[in-house]
Amino acid sequence: MASTTVKSIQCSCSSCVCVVDPNNAIVKEGKYYCCQGCAEGHVNGNGSGNSGCGCNS
Ligand SMILES: [Zn+2]
Ligand SMILES: [Zn+2]
Repeated sequence: MASTTVKSIQCSCSSCVCVVDPNNAIVKEGKYYCCQGCAEGHVNGNGSGNSGCGCNS
């Protein structure tokens, strides 16, 4: 088996500071996001409530 090293990376959402596990992250266009809202750029307003991103899950 290959190495199972897990490194956390930061969500690619510009206003998000969440750290995501690449194995569980939502991948869109080669970038990793912590949630669907971030992956979609919060076009629907989901996850973007207050200052910053607002996704706390
Ligand atoms: Zn995020
Ligand atoms: Zn976000």
